[in-house]
Amino acid sequence: MLTPRQRLARIARIGLAIQVIAILPAVVAMMVSWNSSNQDSAFVQWCVSYWWSLLLLAAFVYTAVAYALSFLLRCPHCRYRLSRAHTPTWAITSHNAHIRYCAHCGLALDASRSD
Ligand SMILES: [Zn+2]
Repeated sequence: MLTPRQRLARIARIGLAIQVIAILPAVVAMMVSWNSSNQDSAFVQWCVSYWWSLLLLAAFVYTAVAYALSFLLRCPHCRYRLSRAHTPTWAITSHNAHIRYCAHCGLALDASRSD
C-alpha cells in the first residue's frame, strides 16, 4: 500500500523519465554535429540538419510534461499544486526528500486523506 507521498513520487519519477527520454536525442544530435570531424557521414549530416528541431521538440515535451505534472502533483488534503512551492519537481521524486508536508496546509503527505 503506497502512501500519497509515494504515489506522488512515482508520478514525478515517470514524468522526469519522459523528460529525459525527450531531451536525450537532441543532446546527442547536438554533440555529434558540433564535435564530429567526419562531416561526410550521413548520420552526422542528419544531426547537423535536425538537432535544432529535436531540441525544439524536446523543449515542447519537457514543458508539456512539466505542465501536466503541476496538475498531477497535488496535496492529498487540500489539492494544492505542490510544484508551486516545491521546485524543481525532481525533488519530489526522491524517497528521502525533505518534502513531507504540504506547503499550503501543513499536513503530512504520507497521511491519507482524513475526511
Ligand atoms: Zn495541503
